[in-house]
Parts: sequence; structure tokens; C-alpha cells
Amino acid sequence: MSKQINIGVIGVGHLGVHHASHLTKIGNANLVGIFDSDTQRAEEISNKLKVKSFESMESLLNSVDAVSIVTPTSTHRKVAESCIKKGKHVFIEKPITSSVDDAEHLIGLANKHDVIIQVGHIERFNPALLALSNLAIDPKYIEVHRMAPFMSRGTDVPVVLDLMIHDIDLILSFISSPVKEIYANGVSIMTNSVDIANARIKFENGSIANITSSRVAKDRVRKIKIFQQDLYVTIDFLAGISEVYKAMGASQNDPDAIMSAPLVGADGKHRQIFYEKPVVKKTDALKSELKNYINAVLGKEKPMVDGFAGKQALDVAIKIHDKILEDLR
Ligand code: NAD
Repeated sequence: MSKQINIGVIGVGHLGVHHASHLTKIGNANLVGIFDSDTQRAEEISNKLKVKSFESMESLLNSVDAVSIVTPTSTHRKVAESCIKKGKHVFIEKPITSSVDDAEHLIGLANKHDVIIQVGHIERFNPALLALSNLAIDPKYIEVHRMAPFMSRGTDVPVVLDLMIHDIDLILSFISSPVKEIYANGVSIMTNSVDIANARIKFENGSIANITSSRVAKDRVRKIKIFQQDLYVTIDFLAGISEVYKAMGASQNDPDAIMSAPLVGADGKHRQIFYEKPVVKKTDALKSELKNYINAVLGKEKPMVDGFAGKQALDVAIKIHDKILEDLR
């Protein structure tokens, strides 16, 4: 039998219960137990999943090799620090922490104790995105919309750190160039913090990303459009649909093309547009993410989003948020 990782979940609220539930079904993972500072919630989830509820984080840490930290963002530094200092691998839900200093502190500590930090930027595991893994993504321009109805959960941080950070992480994974300039603005509607935000990020290589995020929308939307030379891609992360439009030269009009230019290009060929809808596998992004974490702890895979990537996304998010605050003053 292959090695099993003894794991615990800290924080079994809205999302943590799903972590715990998936971890009972992932081979190589042995869910030893849970800990939640809300004892009533801990007991409820312990009964529901038939898993031990530990009376303290320390006692849980004495029984595991690794943990999933699914507590509110404001607690991530303190909770992760205790786990790492005990030599435990940590999966930290996004955003990694609420400040870049805290993220750097955890990364330094994890290096010292030789443990993995993985950060829960779940969209990297969205099957609609994974369906595009054969494409060479090199965007000139990215347009993103992420909207959600208002809920009090997640409002311990502004919308940029709650929702927009998902898209910032994706964009940084697509564009490997330093950020050059950021323009951003936003408004508060339901909280004392920023609830709707728009940011335009310009990268050193000339690429631009325009992101709109709102947590005060009637309907949920999670869409990204990627424009690059000879390629246009749309991803609907909620519906699980990707669409690809490729421009190619053809010597004759191809009946499969959805558009043809009347003019012949410099290569002596007609420019034509071809449409594809890649097959999207029906996988669960959270389960795939946790499998990646368990395999990373086993040394079989690299974490898709490590502490450094989590910190990079947070750094850009905080710069965007600071620009919004500057604009509001
Ligand atoms: P939640 O409020 O529903 O649950 C948090 C749980 O943590 C609660 O049960 C609370 O009692 C417990 N808790 C608080 N402090 C604790 C501590 N010090 N030790 C142990 N337990 C503690 O919150 P949520 O919506 O599940 O969010 C949790 C984290 O997950 C946040 O960082 C959030 O940003 C992130 N999140 C990520 C996604 C995603 O798409 N990846 C979605 C939702 C939430």
C-alpha cells in the first residue's frame, strides 16, 4: 500500500466542511480529524462526517503530517505559523494572508522547517481552464468579470482580496512579466470596505488586464476573455465552458471556418477563423486541488500554487486596493 498522509482540517465553516469531506475520499489522505474554535460547529461536522473533533489545535497537530487551514483570512498568519513551527505542511485557503509581510514571514518559516505551503487559488483547477492546457496562452489583453450576490462571509477583507484575487492569480499565471502600472477604482456599498472594484494592470511586456469584481450583484458571473495574436479564448468558470477562436492562413476557403477575410495575407493565404469548444471533463476543482496538495506532500507533484505564487497574487491585490483607497480619498 502506498504511503498515507495524516491530515487535519482547521476551520470547518462554509468551505472547510468541503475540504474535510473530500479528504475522506482521497486515496493517500487519512483525515485524522478536525478542529474549529466554534465547538458547536465542530461537533456538528464531526457527527456529519464521522470524523474526530479535537479539543485544541495543538492536539490535532500532534496527530497529523499536514493540515488544511480554512479559517477566516485574518487568522491565517497565526494559525499557519503554529502549524509550520510544529513541522506540518500547510494548505492555506486564499488569500494566503491579509498582508504581504505576513505572507513573507510564513514563506520564510516554511523554508526553515522544510514544509510545503500551498494556497487555495482554486480556479487553477477549474476543469474549463484545464481543458485549455494544450494552448500556448500568451495574452495581449485580458478582460475579466467576477460578480457575486452579497453575503457576509468573506467581508473580513475587501472585494479585491476576497474575489478579485482569484483573477489576479490567474492573470499572473498567464502573463510572465512584471507589473508596470495599475489603475484602479471602486466603491463601498454594503460594507465599510470596497465591495465593487475595477483594475487595469499594465505589464512590462505591454500586456494589459482589465478586471471587474463585485460582491453586490444579482447574479453570479465568472468569465474571462483572453485576446492574443491569432487566438481568442473565453472561459466561463461557472458554466464550465471554454471556447477557442483561432486565426489561420488557408490557401482555399475552408468550409469549417466561421469567418474568412476576403483579402489574401502576406503569406499568400486567406485568413480564416476556426472555432473549437474543447471537451471539459466533469471534475471537482476542490478535490483536484487537494489531490495536488497530498501528492505535493508525498513529493510526487509540485503544488500548483505555492506560497510564493500566493504572495505574488496578494501583493498585486494589495497594490490595487491601495490605489482604490487613494482614489476614494
Ligand atoms: P466561515 O466563516 O464559513 O468558516 C470559518 C470557520 O473557521 C468557522 O467555522 C470558524 O469558527 C472557524 N475559525 C475561526 N477562527 C478559527 C481559529 N483560529 N481556529 C480554528 N477555527 C477557527 O468562512 P469560509 O467562507 O469557510 O472561509 C474560510 C477561508 O476560505 C477564508 O480564507 C476564505 O477567503 C476562503 N474561501 C475560499 C474560497 C475559494 O473559492 N477558494 C471560497 C470561500 C472561502
